[in-house]
Amino acid sequence: MHQVSVTNLTRQVVVRGGRAFPPLSTTTAFVGKSGMKEIQACIYLKSRLVEPEGNTPQAVEPIEPIEVVPPVEPVEPPEPTETVKEPTETDDPVESEQEYACPVCDYKTDNKRGLQAHIRQRHPAEYERLRSE
Ligand SMILES: [Zn+2]
Repeated sequence: MHQVSVTNLTRQVVVRGGRAFPPLSTTTAFVGKSGMKEIQACIYLKSRLVEPEGNTPQAVEPIEPIEVVPPVEPVEPPEPTETVKEPTETDDPVESEQEYACPVCDYKTDNKRGLQAHIRQRHPAEYERLRSE
């Protein structure tokens, strides 16, 4: 229900919203929502909504809390001071698919025949043992 102060501007009784408003006078009435619309739409009536003190539920809208999300800054690693990479990191020596290492010493070769020759010449005992296996 709305309490409205309605002023009838005409010289006739105006009936709006189920209420009769005497001519050239102001009447305070309680009307429903539809009656309020009817009164406000009437050009013969000048209405003013009377809000009871301390009761203004329609005027105050709940303030929704605004969730403040701080911008997430990506954690970047510190800038590397060395911009030039070591050449050995980028240019890895292509290792041979097959590498033959001498089981006795640190001799290495990608040639199986070369390793056999090495063992036969440098490590004759080992050479004989490998042949016997
Ligand atoms: Zn060797």
